[in-house]
Amino acid sequence: MNRHITEATGSERQEFAECVDMLRFSLPYPVSSVDDVWIMWDDRMNTANGVLGSYSILHPDRILLASHARMMTEVIMPTLCHELHHHWQYHKFGLLYVLGCIPIIREFVIEKTADAVEDAAETALGIYL
Ligand SMILES: [Zn+2]
Repeated sequence: MNRHITEATGSERQEFAECVDMLRFSLPYPVSSVDDVWIMWDDRMNTANGVLGSYSILHPDRILLASHARMMTEVIMPTLCHELHHHWQYHKFGLLYVLGCIPIIREFVIEKTADAVEDAAETALGIYL
C-alpha cells in the first residue's frame, strides 16, 4: 500500500456526498456520485505544486485529493466535483475518454467541461481562488 495516501473517513465521505448532492443542480455537466468512488488523501499534492486533486484511468474508481485541504472540506469541493466529472466521463465514454487524455487534445476535450464544472462549484459555494 502506498504510504502517501490515506482513505477518507466515513464522516468525510458523508460530508462530501451531502455537498455534491447540494451542488449537483448548479453544475453544467454531470458528476458521479461520491458513493461510486474511493476518495483518498494524498500527501504529495499541495498548493505549492498546484495539484489539489487527480483522477487516473489506471485506478478508474479512485480520486486523490490534497491532504493539506483535509480540514477545509469546502475549499476542496470544486476540485472534487472536477474529478467526479472525469469519473463520469470515463464511465460514460470509455475508450473515447482515453483518447481524450492525449496531451494538447486533453485541454480542449476532457478538461474543458471539467473546468466548467469546477468553476460552477466555486461560484455556487462563493469561493474565489
Ligand atoms: Zn481534470
